Amino acid sequence: MEAVLILNGLNCPDCAEKIRRRAQNVEGVKGAEMNFMSKELRLTLEAESSKENIIEEVKKIISDVEPDVKILLDGEREESEDEFDNASFKTEIIKLSLAFGLFLAGELLPLPFWWKVSFFVAAYFLSGWEVLVRAAKNILKGEVFDENFLMGLATVGAFAIKEFPEAAAVMIFYQAGELFQDYAVNRSRKSISKLMDIRPESANLKTSDGIKSVSPDKVAIGDIIIVKPGEKIPLDGVIENGTALLDTSAMTGESVPRAAKKGDEVISGCISLDGALEIKVSKPFGESAVSKILEMVQRAGEKKSRPEKFITRFARIYTPIVVVAAVLLAFIPPLAFGLELRDWVYRALSFLVVSCPCALVISIPLSFFGGIGGASAKGILVKGGISLEALSKCKAVAFDKTGTLTKGVFEVDGIYPENISKEELLRFAAMAESFSNHPIALSIKKAAGDGFSGEGILAREIAGKGVEASFDGYKVLAGNAALMLENGITPPPATGTSVHVALNGKYAGYISLSDSIRNDAKDAVKKLKSAGVEKVFMLTGDGAENAEKIAGLAGIDKFYANLLPHEKVEKVEEIMSNLTPGEKLAFAGDGINDAPVLARADIGIAMGGLGSDAAIEAADVVLMTDEPSKIADGIRISKKTIRIVKQNIVFAISIKILVLILAAFGLAPMWLAVFADVGVAFLAILNALRAIRA
Ligand code: ADP
Ligand code: MG
Repeated sequence: MEAVLILNGLNCPDCAEKIRRRAQNVEGVKGAEMNFMSKELRLTLEAESSKENIIEEVKKIISDVEPDVKILLDGEREESEDEFDNASFKTEIIKLSLAFGLFLAGELLPLPFWWKVSFFVAAYFLSGWEVLVRAAKNILKGEVFDENFLMGLATVGAFAIKEFPEAAAVMIFYQAGELFQDYAVNRSRKSISKLMDIRPESANLKTSDGIKSVSPDKVAIGDIIIVKPGEKIPLDGVIENGTALLDTSAMTGESVPRAAKKGDEVISGCISLDGALEIKVSKPFGESAVSKILEMVQRAGEKKSRPEKFITRFARIYTPIVVVAAVLLAFIPPLAFGLELRDWVYRALSFLVVSCPCALVISIPLSFFGGIGGASAKGILVKGGISLEALSKCKAVAFDKTGTLTKGVFEVDGIYPENISKEELLRFAAMAESFSNHPIALSIKKAAGDGFSGEGILAREIAGKGVEASFDGYKVLAGNAALMLENGITPPPATGTSVHVALNGKYAGYISLSDSIRNDAKDAVKKLKSAGVEKVFMLTGDGAENAEKIAGLAGIDKFYANLLPHEKVEKVEEIMSNLTPGEKLAFAGDGINDAPVLARADIGIAMGGLGSDAAIEAADVVLMTDEPSKIADGIRISKKTIRIVKQNIVFAISIKILVLILAAFGLAPMWLAVFADVGVAFLAILNALRAIRA
């Protein structure tokens, strides 16, 4: 059981974490995950019955921590989000401009001293009222290291030592910085979500009394929907009528449109460029391609990478340390050496201003989110910061062969029966393969013509070997030589990929098939090498002869043939144990027979993502297209993201340390400290945005 709350206007990652922690402790909540980027709080509940109460409770917590946040329930998302953000942005700008005007008046007008002071005080309260209110609330709750409190303390301190203009200027500067920081975070969130904006708004449902526009989740399997030219296909289905060129770029990253005609399967999220289509819906909305992708992308923010975790921990100790240092700095020199108290308090106030780790707390998750968003725009879905980080350390890649390096579309190129006709042999094989989705099975069924309902057939798939089936009084085996030998049958030597067939324990001949290598297989290996991958392997259940041919054509360093699925897992483990610690291995497969390997490898990459659910579950990265060369693109994006993350960490921490040192020596005015706080955060956010366009 889950409940999802959307927190519109949530711009402070620190508060987000606070909300998450408190929500986690609510009675009846098993887990709470906060995705700062999509502003979602996802609660796992112990029982459905308490849902309402828990939501009320959590809403209270949210309003308590962040009174300005507007809370929506899942599904209410799109409404007026922009208006909400724009309106509050405008009021803030006006308020700050007024405050700045008052400040200038106090500075420039030839007024008596106390007049000037009252201008500064007015400017201060106008810009900083909210900060003070929040600070006061948080003190009551015992949260002294909250950034509002620290800013409040620093500025009130400035008033206390009669630095009136300084106090007002620092508050205005700080609030302006916060505002632009919010603005940048929001803008980037929007540009990232636009990349992933594939959610269809409505579906045109064909009913007995005309066409009705309904919400996609109201459409049932078997319903007919109409997609007009220029519209997005809202649900997965099969074309009943019409032809169209489909723009699949949102789903696959593929820029060349694809022609679709009657009888073709189409997935939601594609756009019909020219034709009108009548589509018979084959999956409910919740299971459609679009929903699967959205779900995956939205949850990506929850799986935190190491830098993200480091920042959370760092933030927790950094602030207390700096604050304690500030207190010592203010009082020790004056008390111990009789130096001027006012001067040292001023230095300490700068410390308080720099004591917020905001720049990092915001920019690191934002960089990861940007990288993940940028990758998904290219048809590479990464399941979280953790996977993106692993990808950047990828030093070895192992490919599955069939369906991954090869097209997986076999052509039957010879039928060699023994004691039965060719047609019969093909038919028996096709019947036995009725339930199999293996590329070999699909091609045999295709060659034998349609009409295998599977009725009356009992079948069992033997992974990596073939199938065993009983029907019409026959026990049929269809598979490779290993399967035959296992059953005491010695098949004749056959070249290439062949499916041997035995009827009631007697050999009945074989069907030979050929598969061709993918156009970009060779390119994929080359690009991996230039992206820093040192070794490229191929693991296959197919025979050595075929394996060698494909490995040669693709330029693979080393291949292993005749592997059963569990042996692929062992091989992957062996390769991983030979890597230097810290280096990662990626395994790329099509999900047929290799879900266990996808799960076991450091990074599991599923190809042609929308095919197999098991593969999507097991994988860390899903390629929407069948292009293995996308793996290298993913690695490049991950490396760029990690570079940006490191830059931000080093930049923010060193500026802060520098300002702390300057302030300790009395060389950093308070406004410089404000720059080290909000200015650095702003720059770090701008840098983080580069991750989107990798
Ligand atoms: P790969 O590792 O190359 O993707 P698999 O592990 O899927 O190959 O399959 C290994 C071999 O097992 C295939 O080359 C084929 O000979 C045989 N095989 C597996 N499944 C089937 C099936 N459904 N029908 C016939 N042969 C099969
Ligand atoms: Mg395979």
